[in-house]
Amino acid sequence: CSEESAPLPVLGRDVRVPLVTGGEVTYGALDYAASAPALQRVWDDVAAYAPYYGSVHRGAGHLSQLSTDLFEQSRRTVAEFLGCREGDQVVFTRATTDSLNLLAAALPSGTRVFVFETEHHASLLPWRAHEVTYLDAPRSPEQAVATLESALHAAPAGPKLVCVTGASNVTGEVWPVRELARAAHRHGARLVLDAAQLAPHRPVRLTELEADWVAFSGHKLYAPFGAGVLAGRADWLCAAEPYLAGGGASRRVARAADGGVDVEWHTTAARHEAGSPNVIGAYAVASACRALAEAGFERLVAREEELLARLVGGLAELPEVRILSLFGADADRVGVVSFVVEGWNSSHLAAALSAEYGIGVRDGLFCAHPLLRTLLGQRGDAPAECGESAGEAPASNAVRVSFGAGTPDEHVDRFVAAVREL
Ligand code: PMP
Repeated sequence: CSEESAPLPVLGRDVRVPLVTGGEVTYGALDYAASAPALQRVWDDVAAYAPYYGSVHRGAGHLSQLSTDLFEQSRRTVAEFLGCREGDQVVFTRATTDSLNLLAAALPSGTRVFVFETEHHASLLPWRAHEVTYLDAPRSPEQAVATLESALHAAPAGPKLVCVTGASNVTGEVWPVRELARAAHRHGARLVLDAAQLAPHRPVRLTELEADWVAFSGHKLYAPFGAGVLAGRADWLCAAEPYLAGGGASRRVARAADGGVDVEWHTTAARHEAGSPNVIGAYAVASACRALAEAGFERLVAREEELLARLVGGLAELPEVRILSLFGADADRVGVVSFVVEGWNSSHLAAALSAEYGIGVRDGLFCAHPLLRTLLGQRGDAPAECGESAGEAPASNAVRVSFGAGTPDEHVDRFVAAVREL
């Protein structure tokens, strides 16, 4: 299939897969929202560095110094990509889930957290050790701001945190992050942005979005698995107990007069990065940030709008298909679309797309059970899947198709033609 229409080359674009009907086709990767294929450029950068990597921070040898420089340079590259402010910290984590759990562990005691029920479980669940206010699903960006505003208005004094997803992993809809951040700040609250789905598709800059922290995953941003980021304000992070206790996080450890140990923790990002870090992962994330910045989001967004028009336009011609949406047909969305097809069990449809057309999509409840219940009009005690896709799914789960910078027209065209045929 022709790759000419895809702005950035990704790995795996020549993979051939067998079809149950006989023969084989080039794999149609339409599950970017789960994990995007790594960019060829990231692979090349990592391959060029791999022969030289060494331990970071404590090694005296030449390769250790080189790795330490590249690790810290990667931090600066990510800071620049995210439009960090003076004094902001960039902490390397394992992924978004890890980043948000880190922040949850760093909240001052008594913090009240505000979160919409529409969140991915990674941004819905980490706060449960704190007082949490769950907000009902809004039906427009304006209603999201109004809902948050009135909840904050009614809240007692004390530290407050709002956690919001920039783009939904289910509907792809873009949330009004800056307006929500402004509402939070008007009420003395802070805001953390879950940018797992937004960062691969749109510029995410703390200065412009006015968010206090941002979290994202390398494996959704065209880098491999295992590295993510939490970036933002240093004060709560520096005041908190380290996320992990151990070497690297501690500046000085000594036996105390009472027979125990005294520890002085670092007040930089290292405070929350105990143990030997994922240096290659951090380097890969930085490489992906550089590649996206160089490609330019203007170009990436324009390309994605083209693909969205093809996809949504194609599905709209099929009366049995219902695209899931909170904010309505005109909502701003990234390349993530979930839908149900009347008369089809979603897991059977996803299996048929794979077996008969070589197209990889996802089906299930996408780790956003309350949102799916709202979108599908189900009761909260209806049977549910635990993972994003596993086993025999209830008939009313949804199918999700998602794409990005490596997607050629042909994948989307084949997908629409397949759904029509099925
Ligand atoms: N937030 C959103 C919006 C997501 O889509 C995901 C992944 N599906 C996560 C958080 C969690 O990301 P990870 O699995 O990389 O920790």
